[in-house]
Amino acid sequence: MSKYFKDAEFRRCTPSCSIDQMDPGFMNKLDEVREIAGIPIVLTSAWRSIIWEKMHGRSGDGDHPQGRGVDVKCNTSQNRYKIVRAALIVGFRRIGIGKTFIHLGDATNLPQDVIWDYYE
Ligand SMILES: [Zn+2]
Repeated sequence: MSKYFKDAEFRRCTPSCSIDQMDPGFMNKLDEVREIAGIPIVLTSAWRSIIWEKMHGRSGDGDHPQGRGVDVKCNTSQNRYKIVRAALIVGFRRIGIGKTFIHLGDATNLPQDVIWDYYE
């Protein structure tokens, strides 16, 4: 199902999930991002249930519950550039920039062509 990502990496996410819960089209795009970025992509969060989202104060209608969003670890400006550049080339239109991670999402029922932040 994925060239670069194994189920174990999804098991280690918060919350733990399975690669089978991800949208296949999304996974193809994530593989392309990995290919173009040329650096390891470490997943910190992937599929999340609507219940989990609501327990954490979120609406539950984001990319994650659809299996069409991941958060990837990112701690340096160089890697941030590589990942965001690759995501834009691949066609991701929903990107979030956190202090230590980047969100990549491609749910089609949510706003497109957006880059948001998680600044406090
Ligand atoms: Zn996210």
